[in-house]
Amino acid sequence: MQRSDTESSTSLRPWIEALQSEPRSNTVYKPALLLAILNLLDEGVIDPEQVRLDDRLVEEVDEILRRASIERSAIAWQPFFHLGTTKGTRDPIWTLVDKAGQPLRLVSADAPSSIKATRDNFAYASFSRDLIGALRTERGRTAVRQLIFEWLEQRPDPDARRVLEAHDPDWTDVDRYRRDLRARSSQDFSPFAVRPRIELSAKTRRVRSRAFRLEVLEQYDDRCAACGLRLRLGAMVEAEASHIIPVMADGVDDVRNGLALCRTHHWAFDAKLWTVNSESRILVARDADERSDLAALRRDLADQQLRPPVTPAFAPHPDALDWHRKHWFVDAPAA
Ligand SMILES: [Zn+2]
Repeated sequence: MQRSDTESSTSLRPWIEALQSEPRSNTVYKPALLLAILNLLDEGVIDPEQVRLDDRLVEEVDEILRRASIERSAIAWQPFFHLGTTKGTRDPIWTLVDKAGQPLRLVSADAPSSIKATRDNFAYASFSRDLIGALRTERGRTAVRQLIFEWLEQRPDPDARRVLEAHDPDWTDVDRYRRDLRARSSQDFSPFAVRPRIELSAKTRRVRSRAFRLEVLEQYDDRCAACGLRLRLGAMVEAEASHIIPVMADGVDDVRNGLALCRTHHWAFDAKLWTVNSESRILVARDADERSDLAALRRDLADQQLRPPVTPAFAPHPDALDWHRKHWFVDAPAA
């Protein structure tokens, strides 16, 4: 399925993956700090190259939390430091710079013990070059906000949910569409969308994509229905939600027209390299471009049973699977 417009933006992708792989302890303080910075950037009162932990920023973080009905915390300033630390091989969200103007490479163990110590040790934080460009435009800031909300919505705890409700303009609609998707499973299955996706507004497409993705990934517990792979890092989930009858063929948003698939098997499914038979067993294409190594795909998937969703009523509908086999997977081998 298509991801949000913002996520496909190549300059933001490394940044959002760094954000999504952040540990989920004290879930809301990092997003609260980033949302506060975005608000101050909107007002034009701070510079993304030199973000200081001044009173105005601390007050804005408090305001973000207050509006979400989250009690003010004595440690809400800590992400200012932790967003500047290196974990494993990945780069920090931003770089902390000392009073002499030297960028610092920091690890969690360097954490200062108080807001005063943080101010004494670090002059400012500086976002990466790519991100600075995005943060200077309203469109870029909207895209970054969207990424923060998508980070929060993965298995949201109660505080994350409160931040989404208070600050994400799409959240109520995403939540409502998820309820619609769940209610739909007890109705007759209609394989095709009533209105083609292209006729919908960008906001509606965005809301529906988010809701469909969340429902499908939850139903498959973030696991590929074809190979069983499940990779998660912080809030980052490798698996994607695919439409069995693709959106471009007007496939309906219905969990019974969905499968959670790892990126490789999603790609191969859309590329008509595999499908399933009427018993939900995987069929791999016999012939394809000679540059492809279908033997490996066949070894991993052929004759495997699709893994079922958590709720039996959400299992792929036979009509959707039949359509995929007969109309999409044109090079079907004999079963
Ligand atoms: Zn897979």
